[in-house]
Amino acid sequence: MDNPTPMLRQYLDIKKQYPGTLLFFRLGDFYELFNEDAQIGARELQITLTARHKDSPNPVPMCGVPYHAAAGYISKLVRKGYRVAICEQAEAASKGVKLVKREVVRVITPGTAVDSQLVERTESSYLAAVTGDDNRVGVSFLELSTGEFSATEETGPEAWAKVAEHLGRYAPSEILLPRSPDARFRHNLGLPTPEGLGLLNVQPNDHSSAPIAGVVTPIDDECFASDTATKTLCDHFDVKDLSVFGLAGRAHAISAAAACMRYVQDTQKAQAAHIQSLDYFESAEFMVLDAVTLANLEIIRSRNDSSDNSLFSLIDETITGMGGRLLRAWLLRPSIKRSEIQTRLAAVNELGDAMLRDKIRLILKSVADLERLIGRLNLGTASPRDLVALKASLDQSPVISESIIGSKALLLQVLAENIFELPEVRDLIARAIVDEPPQNLADGGVIRSGYDSDLDELREMTASVKQAIAGFEAQERERTGIQNLKIRFNNVFGYFIEISKSNLSRVPDDYDRRQTLTNAERFTTAQLKEWEAKVLGAEEKMAVLESDLYRSVVDTVAGETRKIQSTARALATVDTLCSLAETAAKRNFICPQLHDGDEIEIRSGRHPVVEASIRDSFVPNDIYLNNSTDRLLIVTGANMGGKSTVLRQIAVIQILAQIGSFVPAASARLPIVDRVWTRVGASDDLASGRSTFMVEMTETATILRNANPRSLILLDEIGRGTSTFDGLSIAWAVAEFLHNSPERSAKTVFATHYHELTELAESLPGAKTYQMTATERDGDVVFLHKFQPGKASKSYGIAVAKLAGLPPEVIARAEAVLQKLEKYELAVFADEKKDGLSLAAAKAATAQVSLFAVSNETTLAEVRDVDPAGMSADELRSFVQHLKQRII
Ligand code: ADP
Repeated sequence: MDNPTPMLRQYLDIKKQYPGTLLFFRLGDFYELFNEDAQIGARELQITLTARHKDSPNPVPMCGVPYHAAAGYISKLVRKGYRVAICEQAEAASKGVKLVKREVVRVITPGTAVDSQLVERTESSYLAAVTGDDNRVGVSFLELSTGEFSATEETGPEAWAKVAEHLGRYAPSEILLPRSPDARFRHNLGLPTPEGLGLLNVQPNDHSSAPIAGVVTPIDDECFASDTATKTLCDHFDVKDLSVFGLAGRAHAISAAAACMRYVQDTQKAQAAHIQSLDYFESAEFMVLDAVTLANLEIIRSRNDSSDNSLFSLIDETITGMGGRLLRAWLLRPSIKRSEIQTRLAAVNELGDAMLRDKIRLILKSVADLERLIGRLNLGTASPRDLVALKASLDQSPVISESIIGSKALLLQVLAENIFELPEVRDLIARAIVDEPPQNLADGGVIRSGYDSDLDELREMTASVKQAIAGFEAQERERTGIQNLKIRFNNVFGYFIEISKSNLSRVPDDYDRRQTLTNAERFTTAQLKEWEAKVLGAEEKMAVLESDLYRSVVDTVAGETRKIQSTARALATVDTLCSLAETAAKRNFICPQLHDGDEIEIRSGRHPVVEASIRDSFVPNDIYLNNSTDRLLIVTGANMGGKSTVLRQIAVIQILAQIGSFVPAASARLPIVDRVWTRVGASDDLASGRSTFMVEMTETATILRNANPRSLILLDEIGRGTSTFDGLSIAWAVAEFLHNSPERSAKTVFATHYHELTELAESLPGAKTYQMTATERDGDVVFLHKFQPGKASKSYGIAVAKLAGLPPEVIARAEAVLQKLEKYELAVFADEKKDGLSLAAAKAATAQVSLFAVSNETTLAEVRDVDPAGMSADELRSFVQHLKQRII
């Protein structure tokens, strides 16, 4: 841009300070974007691209959005992964000043968004930061809207993989990495490479690819520098050293946490004092559910990625957004502390009292999302309505604490004590803020009359002047005899007298002409000018005064952040516990019994989500597992018979129990499980370019390397993605390994269509066979969905194919082939048995021979049909060649 105007020069200066953002530049009632920003904005927001200085040789591309509708546009861009810098006028535009001062007041990024348009009510939105070296990696997570802040450090050769796992679980909206090792870190974490960074270094989010979906934002290495890191955090928390948070000696965790903090300070231009502590956590503190397992078990989202058929959506009966987020957090990180689980269960049990529960839930309806509200108060974005909502919530909360303070359940007593009444805060808001304030402070009328005498005086003065002006209208009508004479006001011209063209002849001499319109003229008088000056001066003063008063109320309230947060947390917990109790009552769940042993013993267990979604009634099932005699269950049965359901049901019941929920069963005795591993179903991960089989084997390898006797492993149809014999051999070896290796020997349930595997169970002391029963009626398969000891005699594959509508001739042919195969299998099987092979191995060998036999039989048929006499030498040679290829 050669020779820019002063305004554009100001734009370019500011733009330079905020690289990688789209700059929303405030011009009067609009935010304008220029140059490349304008092109991106016009494309992404589908708004018109125009140009400034259109007719000059260097037009500047431009597009804009009205400021009052900006929130919607901003959230659209941020959702797409862009970062938006909001640049406001830092002084009022007044006459004579050519160029008003402007400054960036906030940068909104995917990981730091707190606006209700950008954060889901019951979903946390995390900012993450990662740094580390070869075998020591730190990661930190910050939920800015609530101030939840945590960090951890992983060590050893699997450190990066473990951190990637944390990222998978937290699913941060934005991940900060130091700029120079950015590419290497992305590689280590399995994050997509920065293609399409574009000339702006703005990177749109690509939710389709990696399992970790957030935007990656490379920031200056210096933000992670360890010497300043400690200082950044100590300054923020006002502590001498970080050992209070358990961070001593965790240099990478400290660096990552400091990077989050710096980024928030830089983007929010606020202290964020609601971030009150930093929680150092370790994986060993909760039940580990990796991203694959969460997806397989459909804990938060169902398979088709909609959230409405997930375990969370089924059991979520919370009333407040903060309760919803807490329930979600419990599901993502179930507890492994028996005492903690039992205190929750006791509370849920007590909240089984419907009268008590209904009373609390009714009150919770008038409780705002205090966790986020206190966040906004500390980030300077709280609206006057937030204050009123805070007061209303605080008015209600004592009723909740009174209803639970006398509970038998210890947890409820503790929660009651953590709910603060905060009478000073309630009183201050009541005195200072009107009952129904406008959404924006700038609209005025926020401060209640009687709160500040200066403000009251100014208000009275303007009111009386305005009244005088109104009286003036009547007076002037009378004096001039002009019946439609009007006194009006607008922002540009102030107060004026408007007179229609037809009455102009009657305008008195003391009127000064101000403006001419098509049908009217506008005038003023000395008196009107005087009043106008008074009113406008007073209004300006009132706006400043009101804003000052409001800020001081906000600051006083924010001074109670710790108590409000404690109250918020307690109310959220009460909400979550009530939700668990409500679900238990609604869905007929019972209280599980947890013990320190190793047995899982579930009577009449159900899969709650399947139960809720099928039309027929669910067939409950009994399950028994331990670490000795019943540590490997091999489950066979018809396709669609319910194998996956029963597998997932075991895990779901175990997880529900460990968040402190009742469970769908008639009774359940459960141990504490430290991790659930799953390998369920076959889904092609096309985006990452890995085949189904590769994905399956990678996941299986992770399980075999990491499982331990306190884990629960669910394997569904391992080895399906390759040839039958490969698959069977792998499944066999995997099952044997899990059974035989003492340190990896977790409780394992293995669903398979390889009937050969049931033989394995007969030779292993810790293995048992189960089947999902089905039967045939009039040639059609009928699923009984009953989980029973024993092995399925048939797989009913053809019957299922028939149900699915394969053409009758295909079904008939398949049945014929099957018969042949089975006959052949029996014959060869008898031979092999004589050779002293084990039963299972013999069967496996048999299956192989049978397939060969079919193939060779078709080859023989070809030989039978050929007439050698009619063939040339060349044809004969190529036929023999062809035969040689066909024979296996
Ligand atoms: P498989 O893994 O054996 O192919 P699934 O577990 O996917 O079978 O179950 C197939 C369907 O059968 C489920 O979607 C559900 O509709 C039904 N089903 C499974 N288990 C039960 C049960 N215990 N009671 C009633 N219906 C069931």
